[in-house]
Amino acid sequence: MNIKKKSMKLIAVIICLLIIANGASCGSSQPGGETAAPPSVSPGSPAPSGTPQPPSPESPSPTPPSASPVSAPPETPPPPATPPTPAQKLVPYDGVVENLFFHEVIAYPELAFDGDSMQKGYDTNMVTVSEFNKMIESIYNNGYILVNMNDVWSEYTDENGVQKMKKNTLMLPEGKKPLILSFDDLSFYKYMSGDGFMSKLIVGADGEIWATGVDPNGNAVTSQDLTVVTIIDKFVKEHPDFSLNGVKGCIALTGYEGILGYRTQTDKNNDTAEFKLNRMQEIARVRPVIQKLKETGWYFASHSYGHINLETSTLEQVKADANRWLDEVGSLVGETKLFFYPFGTRLDGGDVYSTGPAFLFYYGLGFRIFASVGYESFSRIKPDIAAVVCDRMHADGTTLRQDRERYLKFYDAALVFDPMRPSEYGTSW
Ligand SMILES: [Zn+2]
Repeated sequence: MNIKKKSMKLIAVIICLLIIANGASCGSSQPGGETAAPPSVSPGSPAPSGTPQPPSPESPSPTPPSASPVSAPPETPPPPATPPTPAQKLVPYDGVVENLFFHEVIAYPELAFDGDSMQKGYDTNMVTVSEFNKMIESIYNNGYILVNMNDVWSEYTDENGVQKMKKNTLMLPEGKKPLILSFDDLSFYKYMSGDGFMSKLIVGADGEIWATGVDPNGNAVTSQDLTVVTIIDKFVKEHPDFSLNGVKGCIALTGYEGILGYRTQTDKNNDTAEFKLNRMQEIARVRPVIQKLKETGWYFASHSYGHINLETSTLEQVKADANRWLDEVGSLVGETKLFFYPFGTRLDGGDVYSTGPAFLFYYGLGFRIFASVGYESFSRIKPDIAAVVCDRMHADGTTLRQDRERYLKFYDAALVFDPMRPSEYGTSW
């Protein structure tokens, strides 16, 4: 009886989802959207060897075990602590879905901005933890709600049996505007070590995601306040209406120095048993982290294996890189149809109005949504193939310093700008 009831319920839920997904008019892609100069992340040369030892992960600092309920049962049932919230009214949304990406946050600006050769790159591409907190708060206050990029478009078969892509009508709480958040390069690259970033994500004893690292005094730190993932986790917990169905963000990964702080990569120059064993251990350690992330609203994109420049790579290099990503990263994070261009450089030297061989190769691997970097949340459904090309806006030092106006819909650079940033690079405001 119960099973029957449950399956009826499940069917009802599925039908609801189908209705939401299909109530779509065809995608209203925006014209224009020139690609901005991509933020040049400097990931270093691909596929270096060795297995760096990130700071040893302490077990997470004690966290309150879920509070045990008070024992003595009251004589009369107490009124519910909070009045039941009325079912939220959902309304159809067919407008622009904003698309914003970050890199990992600078946990300790004094280490990132210490005048060394990396300082400029961090200033250009990253935001500090203080900036990130203010930006997220402001984005929330501006009425945005996080949606899953995979839900914005869907593939269908047209009347001629051709696979096409369409933009879905989103069903959002009244007054909310949809926002896709994504986070590139969450590998905790070796070059970032000692420069004020956390070292890896872990699953703590409490079952939650934490990050470990080292503070400026050399002390091991375990925190939920110093990486993008845990900051978003906490923010959504405190502001559930910032997320549609618990969605958090997309994590875009390369593979050449592993993922999420774990050195899961192969090394063509190191075939030793020791290297292989270490790699297997790292893979075993990262699996529960991936699992937990997926359970808590995070999803994944490819950012290429070697953070390669697609404009200067040959087709053979592009193919080899893509296959290696599938082998070493896709095998861990699961299937994805999302591909975010490193440096913002598009496949085949351009994919908005043409479809080249590299694009077709990626399409054959199952990728459908291809994102570059731009001045606005541009998107275009390709007419010839079931794919979408789009741009993500870049929340980083470049736009904080030089593009205040364009980002005012999200946050005001003048209000979030961290005074810890080097003063010599200036601002336009
Ligand atoms: Zn990148």
